Amino acid sequence: MFKRILIANRGEIAVRVFRACREMDIEPVVVYSQADADALHVQLAERAYCIGPARSADSYLNVDAILTVAQATGCDAIHPGYGFLSENAEFADACEAAGITFIGPSGDVIRAMGNKAAARKLMQQAGVPVVPGSDGAVDTAEQAKALADSIGYPVLIKASAGGGGRGMRRVYDPEQLTSLFEEARSEALSCFGSGELYLEKLIVDPRHIEFQILADSQGNVIQLGDRDCSLQRRNQKLLEESPSKALTPELREKMGAAAVAAAKAAGYVNAGTIEFVLDREGHFYFIEMNTRIQVEHPVTELVTGLDLVREQIRIAAGLPLSVKQEEVPLRGHAIECRINAEDPAQGFRPCPGKIDFLHLPGGCGVRVDTGLYNGYQLPPYYDSLMAKIIVHAPTRLEAIRRMRRALEELIVEGPATNTDLLHQILHHPDFIRGNCTTGFLEANLDTLLAWSGGGEVAEA
Ligand code: ADP
Ligand code: ADP
Ligand code: MG
Repeated sequence: MFKRILIANRGEIAVRVFRACREMDIEPVVVYSQADADALHVQLAERAYCIGPARSADSYLNVDAILTVAQATGCDAIHPGYGFLSENAEFADACEAAGITFIGPSGDVIRAMGNKAAARKLMQQAGVPVVPGSDGAVDTAEQAKALADSIGYPVLIKASAGGGGRGMRRVYDPEQLTSLFEEARSEALSCFGSGELYLEKLIVDPRHIEFQILADSQGNVIQLGDRDCSLQRRNQKLLEESPSKALTPELREKMGAAAVAAAKAAGYVNAGTIEFVLDREGHFYFIEMNTRIQVEHPVTELVTGLDLVREQIRIAAGLPLSVKQEEVPLRGHAIECRINAEDPAQGFRPCPGKIDFLHLPGGCGVRVDTGLYNGYQLPPYYDSLMAKIIVHAPTRLEAIRRMRRALEELIVEGPATNTDLLHQILHHPDFIRGNCTTGFLEANLDTLLAWSGGGEVAEA
């Protein structure tokens, strides 16, 4: 097993990985930017090293600085968390070249899945259903137009290097295709440094269903059940749960098998996620594979009782999976809410600032993953995720009630948060019935915001 792991991340996920290391008797080494000198992961760690200025490009994406710290401190592995360098194939290669284990799949696998247009092809060859769309990248708006005419509107323009819901455009009207194509290209270029685009049929009002998989270096691949991440704003997840109410046992079985086949086709090793959209008729389609630990991984941890970061570390150290497929328990229901420093009433404007007072929920079946503490100053340079509240209960309705009371206990004084909005979602009849599709939040936003402004609360 590794002696010392460098955690190449910040915020709640740096704390999360730190905890797994401590429990495994591995010494965590953390890094931070000049803006994060007071961050929780820095305060917890005995060994913390500044790797550059606030801007991510100069610090958390600074490969040389991170590798220099890893080598100088004798780290034998690096955990990249999510975001930042986690899906950067060159970084994985650079770790390998430096003789340091990257806790994730190989650079080649990251590259293969990181190009989403190419990943579609690979999945198609492996017999995994993909959304009807382009065969690889689409170079020009004219090509896109011809293709859209043949697959039929509406279509979705997507970035091959995309992530975080960026670089996507829905096209309902052929007249708008050219301008939206150019918009998507420039957003993709500025977000990902690549303007490569591809095309998919837009599945109207789908559910987002994903499967957590684990694969070890001995060739064992298992799936740990599904997560329903349909509660989204601008293609970004806000609330996730497991298991999904949309799946029958037969469909769950079929999608789980497709997820395992997808991971095997990719030659995958480590923890990963296969994302699908599910249409109203029960057809499911692969959309992408995330080759890293995901923000919403705790939902799966609560229903399976497994520690996914621990599994990642074990796999990277060459150990076999600690469970077999038939031993994976899927117990009860789990829900996660992402608490963001943003103001829903003002177009979700990010609200960094000082945490004047903080009280976190607790009690039976409640878990909080966060980098916050009383008096902490949220820096404006990074994403707005402040905390994740995750609950577990025997049934979905009990989990909903538990999450409502957990959100009621949460007090954040200082920056605006989306807590009230989440609380209202948990009272909406469509959510309670388990009927929400990816369009739910945007379609109901006005009602939900009016409710959270102090209006009547719907009853379960
Ligand atoms: P998850 O499926 O785990 O919720 P998200 O899409 O929310 O993943 O991304 C998790 C984090 O990683 C977010 O901070 C997001 O901005 C960042 N991220 C995801 N993909 C990319 C990418 N290709 N480039 C840069 N950041 C990314
Ligand atoms: P990212 O890499 O940004 O996470 P994804 O390909 O996972 O991009 O898509 C993000 C979200 O966009 C999905 O969760 C889903 O809500 C929506 N989406 C993606 N592809 C389609 C599609 N073909 N039809 C309908 N919605 C889609
Ligand atoms: Mg995705």
